[in-house]
Amino acid sequence: MLRVVLPAGLTVAFVAVVVAAVFEDGRATAPSPGGSPEPGGGEAVGPRVGDHWHAVYEYIVCGETQPPAPTRSGSGVHTHSDGIIHIHPFAPGEEGAGARLVKWFEYGGGLLDEDEVRLPGAAVTYENGDECPDGTIGTVQVFVNGERLTDYGRYIPQDGDRIEIVFGPEGSSSGGR
Ligand SMILES: [Zn+2]
Ligand SMILES: [Zn+2]
Repeated sequence: MLRVVLPAGLTVAFVAVVVAAVFEDGRATAPSPGGSPEPGGGEAVGPRVGDHWHAVYEYIVCGETQPPAPTRSGSGVHTHSDGIIHIHPFAPGEEGAGARLVKWFEYGGGLLDEDEVRLPGAAVTYENGDECPDGTIGTVQVFVNGERLTDYGRYIPQDGDRIEIVFGPEGSSSGGR
């Protein structure tokens, strides 16, 4: 008798596992490839003390890729002159929103706001409306994994992201080479 019941029970268990796996997969496509912070609560997903995330960035001015920002490690949101934003918060103030891209600029003595950009360590600040050498009008733009972000002031780099900070003609992402 038990032998008849068992296979049916196993089938149900198998289906349950498949369904669970599908849900698990759906969630895994959400923000955090590193998987470190707990997604949930509806809050912006950001790093916590103890996480160590990396996002590659490129700073492009009027079509020219600029040298990476110099090494700076006073904050947990920093860089090692390697074209990578390192996020390993040391203190609660560097967690979550404290690890936004605009804060990485700020911690390094640079500037990124809605209409101005200056890479940490760079001398020149570019402002919307400034002219490029070829006479085109530049604007500040941020692309993440090839997509333009309109609200980049709130953007927290996620582990594995590819970021382009552009000053140049509208829509001038390099297309995520
Ligand atoms: Zn690192
Ligand atoms: Zn580091």
